[in-house]
Amino acid sequence: MSRATGPDDVMPVLSTRARLAGRAAVLVSATSRRLGRGGGSVIGGRAGLLLAPDLLALLAAGRSVALVSGTNGKTTTTHLLAAALGGGDRVATSSAGANLPPGLVVALAASPPGTPAVLEVDEAYLGTVAGAVAPRVVVLLNLSRDQLDRVSEVRMVANRWRRALTDLETTVVANADDPLVVWAAGTAPKVIWVNAGLLWRGDAIGCPACDGKIIFSDSDAPGNEASGGWSCVCGFARPHPDARLIDGQLATADGRRLPLHLRLPSRANRANAAMAAVAAGVMGVDESEALAAMAVVTDVEGRFATVTHAGVTARLLLAKNPAGWTELLDLLEGGTEPVVIGINARIADGHDPSWLWDVPFERLSGRLVVATGDRRKDLAVRLRYAGIDHMTVENQLDALTAPGAAAVQYVGNYTSFQDLRRLLPGSARQEPVRRSLSVPLVSALEVPVPRSSSRRTTGESALRVVVIYPDLLGTYGDSGNGRILACRAAWRGIPVELVLARSDEPLVRGADIYCIGGGEDGPQIQAAERLADGVLASAVGSGAIVLAVCAGYQIMGTSFPGPDGRPYTGLGLLDIDTIKSPGPRSVGELVAAPFDGGRNPTGVTDVHFGHLTGFENHAGLTRLGPSVRPLARVLTGVGNGADVRPDGTRTEGAWSGRVVGTYMHGPVLARNPALADLLLTLATGASLSPLEDEEERALHDERVRSLDVGGGASVSAQAVAKWRQLTGGRGR
Ligand SMILES: [Zn+2]
Repeated sequence: MSRATGPDDVMPVLSTRARLAGRAAVLVSATSRRLGRGGGSVIGGRAGLLLAPDLLALLAAGRSVALVSGTNGKTTTTHLLAAALGGGDRVATSSAGANLPPGLVVALAASPPGTPAVLEVDEAYLGTVAGAVAPRVVVLLNLSRDQLDRVSEVRMVANRWRRALTDLETTVVANADDPLVVWAAGTAPKVIWVNAGLLWRGDAIGCPACDGKIIFSDSDAPGNEASGGWSCVCGFARPHPDARLIDGQLATADGRRLPLHLRLPSRANRANAAMAAVAAGVMGVDESEALAAMAVVTDVEGRFATVTHAGVTARLLLAKNPAGWTELLDLLEGGTEPVVIGINARIADGHDPSWLWDVPFERLSGRLVVATGDRRKDLAVRLRYAGIDHMTVENQLDALTAPGAAAVQYVGNYTSFQDLRRLLPGSARQEPVRRSLSVPLVSALEVPVPRSSSRRTTGESALRVVVIYPDLLGTYGDSGNGRILACRAAWRGIPVELVLARSDEPLVRGADIYCIGGGEDGPQIQAAERLADGVLASAVGSGAIVLAVCAGYQIMGTSFPGPDGRPYTGLGLLDIDTIKSPGPRSVGELVAAPFDGGRNPTGVTDVHFGHLTGFENHAGLTRLGPSVRPLARVLTGVGNGADVRPDGTRTEGAWSGRVVGTYMHGPVLARNPALADLLLTLATGASLSPLEDEEERALHDERVRSLDVGGGASVSAQAVAKWRQLTGGRGR
């Protein structure tokens, strides 16, 4: 019989240097906490790493380590796996705000050597951390866009994971339903594939193997909570799962069916628990024991907890991107309590909340929603176009009580959730109930329901608005432009139909307005190839209007750059061409002023627009030829980048006939209702009755004022010089 081993037997001896550095990390963290500077892990860990750059490896030596990474669910999965391994002092574990190397150093240094560790790791640092700590298991949950201003990094992260895992002696527990995760784990020596589901597929559409398109099968097996299969024509496809979620049970690789009795709500958490249970199995804990230990977890760092404030009971939920919201809307379904939604756009959230337009808030129909947080105005406009009764409240605590209900559901994105948690403890009992009487309630308005292009129901006389390929070019919420146009027509009594035209169907002919948005390089090329069939060009020839944004804008030109900078042929509907900027991406607030004192370049005389505001996020430098007019001149940000007028004026967007292009997301028509009405005026040939646009105007004015505080991207003189050189000095 083998000798029982306790921590004393296996405890490795740390070098003096590692001990001192580890102690310094813990000490500095504790001091920082005492001084009230937050959790303190970061500064303490940094101090430790300064003393011993290899501290992470030193502290991890002799431990059984699990790493958990992914865009959504990593904090919960880390928490569940730590619980499965015994929880409390028996496991070293990191918290949500401390998932970079300095935070991990403190998590390890604060626990005795030899203690097993479950560490949440930021997606961008997984390779570095895995290389240092020699993990026994790596759990890969999912990859989707999180901070929209970093969206171009999602595929980069998948490739970085793939390189890091190829040579790593570890077991990878991977979500077989996410093509990007499968790509990342595809070359790892030992993988356990889990069929845990992926409700949000919006970011997984581009094949990581060939830049083609992933086709998801919707014919899920009965009782299977998780997703069905997926594949690409290149042969890249979902691997056969070793474990899966079926009928609320975990079907293990060895053929057992283990029930999940979680106290954490939602399908997403059942998937997280399934992943954690399989990982626990790799760590030497039987899956059924692991699941039993997870069953007692009631909240994860405040998420899913219920609190009481000024007599109002609030359940606290966190959702920071469309993928997270897709899961949460399932959870909220069927309830009647008001929903309080806090939205910020700080660094940790990403500076661009355009993703709100990819969340189907329409599903909250019939419930009162309170918009709060720094970016409540963006949310209020989104809710208006979703037809949701809503009110706007500045202070998050007031927002909980504003509906006057006994119970509310609170959903915050990352920093607004942290803000509310900070506000809550001291105020939970003392704060007097303050009814926010000044808060206006905006009632739901009738909203046109979009239809797929394969069915035609509405009469030919209706104004037809088509969103081109939202499945390819739907990364930045630009599909919202179509919805906004349709709503603004419907609210004026103009019959309208809104069509979302997917890329696997022929483009609808004969529409009045076509909208096309931004996306990644691969899908941009696919969209351009499909649009080369001439349907759009002939529609423009017959007088259709096109609103083209970002990647869609570049496609309208004569040429645009692929991922490697190689030029691709555009549609030639605008006399512009675009190259890849040799500098960094242009990411930030973009404010531009119209030429001619607000007169628009279309000849429509009764619509004027003031400053235009949007959020740009592109790597293009666009030059305007002689037969287009710029949309506006840049006040802050980059815009076209390569179009500088003799007087030094830099321009944004382009306009020619009835085709208009811009780099502005937001969506652009949400922030600039005058531009939406200009397009509708052109399309209908009639003057439009005014709308009550208080919320849009409030958002517009707030964003234009952001000009004063900066925040815009800038284009380097070097980039412009490079453009001049490439174009033989034609750049103006
Ligand atoms: Zn492929």
